[in-house]
Amino acid sequence: MASFMTHLECARCGKVHDAFREQHLCSCGGPLLVRYDLDGVKGAVRKEDLVGREASLWRYREFLPVEDAGRAVSLGEGWTPVLPLRRWGSRRGLRRVYLKDEGRNPTGTFKARGAAVGVTRALELGATDIAMPTAGNAGGAWSLYAARAGIRSHVAMPKDAPSGAVKECVVAGARVYLIDGLISDAGKFISRGISRYGWYDASTLKEPYRIEGKKTMGLELAEQFAWDLPEVVLYPCGGGVGLIGMWKAFNELERVGWIGRKRPRLVAVQSEGCAPIVRAFREGKAESEFFAGAQTVAGGIRVPKPLGDFLILRAIRETGGAAVAVSDDEILAAMRELSEEEGLFICPEGAATLAGLLHLRDAGLVDADERIVLFNTGSGLKYTDLIAADLPVLPADAQPE
Ligand SMILES: *Cc1c(COP(=O)(O)O)cnc(C)c1O
Ligand SMILES: [Zn+2]
Repeated sequence: MASFMTHLECARCGKVHDAFREQHLCSCGGPLLVRYDLDGVKGAVRKEDLVGREASLWRYREFLPVEDAGRAVSLGEGWTPVLPLRRWGSRRGLRRVYLKDEGRNPTGTFKARGAAVGVTRALELGATDIAMPTAGNAGGAWSLYAARAGIRSHVAMPKDAPSGAVKECVVAGARVYLIDGLISDAGKFISRGISRYGWYDASTLKEPYRIEGKKTMGLELAEQFAWDLPEVVLYPCGGGVGLIGMWKAFNELERVGWIGRKRPRLVAVQSEGCAPIVRAFREGKAESEFFAGAQTVAGGIRVPKPLGDFLILRAIRETGGAAVAVSDDEILAAMRELSEEEGLFICPEGAATLAGLLHLRDAGLVDADERIVLFNTGSGLKYTDLIAADLPVLPADAQPE
């Protein structure tokens, strides 16, 4: 089956670009978004046809930018469960809270979605070496998917990157470069490699296809809620690719007539230690400013100046959503609470959405009966360092107390 992709469009200036050769940013510096022949999609597939398709994001192949879905680079990503949080929610006066658990993905985070589609497309375009700077999970996911595709990967990270993610890249056989500097320095290092060796630039939003993988979270949400979207969605926002992707997905679903005009209120949750979107939202600005000295336990949302900030702000304003910041202490407490009360060991970024929801509730921005979906973007098992467990060792003949 050929793709319904028609072209790429600059999200900033609207300029059209050829989708069938390698593309990165627009000449104006804006990120490129994939556009489809949605009338063609509408004629080719009905939502009923999805029933019985494979339990992965490839069930939405008509909405994906790959020329041959039969040759997708896949590890079984997507189609993650939506779990009700009955105990956690009702104890806090909220009756219909759900968690979409992205920790079930290959590589332990939703970064697998972007990597599956991004690597598939890079391979179709003839890439042999992909490269990116990363704070952690994206590097791990892209390294492993590149291994699956049989192509090389080059990943640069700050020297203090979490060891789990560093090792994930190493075990995948990536060329891993630890840089004595920040993620921005790692980015400059990768740029030098790209101009010298022609590596394929897979940095966030500098290739147009990662976001297409991440938008499948929105397609799934619609299908899992029987095409009647929930009222509120909270998302831990770093680069915001997942949030922008879901917003794009809802617009495409409306265009093919599978949903109506109603949208969930999209809420970006950030950490107080790195909250450029929250600041810009409060100040009524269209773009964010660099957040100096960014620091938080939730490394996945430590992005001081997202490239797609204007799109994030547009998405949350257009849907009547919000942006909220939570503290690291609230994040760590929420991780523990959800494990104890619901049996879900989630990542700190996901835990930020629980803390964010309590802020919304206290501000009267959600009702007790609304359907609220929290995104847990990764497994807590990638973050065991955050859990203190200093237990005494007992003698072998000790009596239980
Ligand atoms: C990358 C990452 C995020 C942020 O994702 P964006 O869609 O880029 O905002 C959130 N949580 C985890 C675990 C991540 O790895
Ligand atoms: Zn442009």
